[in-house]
Amino acid sequence: MDLPRRHLANIGDPVKTLDGWDGSIAYLDRDGVLNVGREDYVKSVDEVVLLEGAGHAVAALRNAGYRIVIVTNQSPVHRGVFTHEELADMNQAVLDGLLLENNNAHVDLVLYSPYAPWEHSPVRKPGPGMLQVGRQLLNGIPLEVTTDSSLLSVKISEGRSFMAGDRDADMGAAMQHGVRGFRVDANVGIAGIIERLLDDNDDGDALEI
Ligand SMILES: [Mg+2]
Repeated sequence: MDLPRRHLANIGDPVKTLDGWDGSIAYLDRDGVLNVGREDYVKSVDEVVLLEGAGHAVAALRNAGYRIVIVTNQSPVHRGVFTHEELADMNQAVLDGLLLENNNAHVDLVLYSPYAPWEHSPVRKPGPGMLQVGRQLLNGIPLEVTTDSSLLSVKISEGRSFMAGDRDADMGAAMQHGVRGFRVDANVGIAGIIERLLDDNDDGDALEI
């Protein structure tokens, strides 16, 4: 079974529980949402540039009761562009940058998919696998990945969960996982859409095909 990778931890390591959590998860894409994306990939720590307001937005979502899971496609790992270790440094730079802006901008879990498109992994967005694993880890249930989230053996309420990203792949993952999807303008990042994300009555954006 393909599984996503996890920043500075083994995929099956337990995640801290949180008292009073209602099951709501904010699944956030990384590039173009938290930090500036690049057509040729963010390839080094020097190329990690936080988008203004991203830290405040993450803090606001936590304050609203969401747990925060970054789900990022990182095919350059299997393309041989950079290593898991180099990616870990970049992911850490993103986490540090968020906390530098707002010390409540705590991210619960960072998952990434190292697979290249031709590997057809269900844990590469638009597949729903990374979202499935994020939910399973936060709820402390066995890891299971399927191309169809309705077939998961353990069903758990996702509360107000949503996926926010700048690409069709993000919207597709939201749709396939069965949570609301929000389209982020990559030039602005998550701060540009935070009021909508905090509105529980906003149904999100449809995937345009
Ligand atoms: Mg992106």
